[in-house]
Amino acid sequence: MPRPNPFDFAGRSALVTGAASGIGAGVARWLAAHGISRLVLIDRDEAALQNLQLASSDTSNIGTIERHAFDVADPVRWAECEAGLGPLDHVVVNAGIGGSGTMADVSFQEWRRVMDVNLDGAFLTLGTGLRALRKDGGAMRGGSVVVTSSVTGVKPVPGIGPYGVAKAAVAHMARIAAAENAAHGIRVNAIAPGGVDTAIWNAGEDFQKAVAQHGRDAALKGMASTTPRQQFATADELAGEIGFLLSDAAANITGTVLVTDGGYSL
Ligand code: NAD
Repeated sequence: MPRPNPFDFAGRSALVTGAASGIGAGVARWLAAHGISRLVLIDRDEAALQNLQLASSDTSNIGTIERHAFDVADPVRWAECEAGLGPLDHVVVNAGIGGSGTMADVSFQEWRRVMDVNLDGAFLTLGTGLRALRKDGGAMRGGSVVVTSSVTGVKPVPGIGPYGVAKAAVAHMARIAAAENAAHGIRVNAIAPGGVDTAIWNAGEDFQKAVAQHGRDAALKGMASTTPRQQFATADELAGEIGFLLSDAAANITGTVLVTDGGYSL
């Protein structure tokens, strides 16, 4: 039964990984502001996860917030989490880390570090999430999933080989899951952002040097100079786009990789 307001998430449950910072925190805030009844927030940064503020009580009817601090690449922790998870309506497969190195020179250790979180972690999240979306006392429940890929998984960008490969793989994983689950009433899409102003950039050596020389704002502006929009997106802009894909307003959209990059890939 379609809702009069397709952005009404009242009565629904959502799981978000990487929820303590950046895009994931933005999605948690967006869902809270759109009336979600139960949020399951997962991140390995326990302090940031506990400190995350969602919305003031007057703008949100949010019922339950569950915060679980663990590494999304840990299958044992996912098995424990799944045992008590119950049914879900929405999943955002979002936790990720940056990583650099050319295909000729990147070490196997760095390759595995990036794949561990960005691919294995996404696989474990997606599988757990899909089973919870199907769970409703044996009846078909339906729901929607968004996987955070990257424009670097669509357009080859030199120097971040393992990251780009992992992001291409998770976008394809979303498309396979979309094909497998459409008959269950489950939609699965990927979002492929260009630069977004979040903490993920802080670990990059070039970015650290630019921040030391020019300050963070100028460093971000410099990095955005090759993007037609001339600026990075904000985490809240990304949250709105992910929220749209999760919502009933996107009822006919599944298996899409939505590029949101200010024109970077043009
Ligand atoms: P962020 O660093 O602000 O947030 C990432 C969150 O994921 C952090 O809270 C971190 O603690 C958590 N996390 C990392 N590894 C984890 C693990 N193994 N287990 C549990 N939690 C873990 O960065 P962000 O930009 O918000 O990143 C969110 C997603 O967006 C990532 O998948 C990233 O690759 C993707 N992305 C970001 C950009 C960008 O420019 N910021 C562009 C394209 C794609």
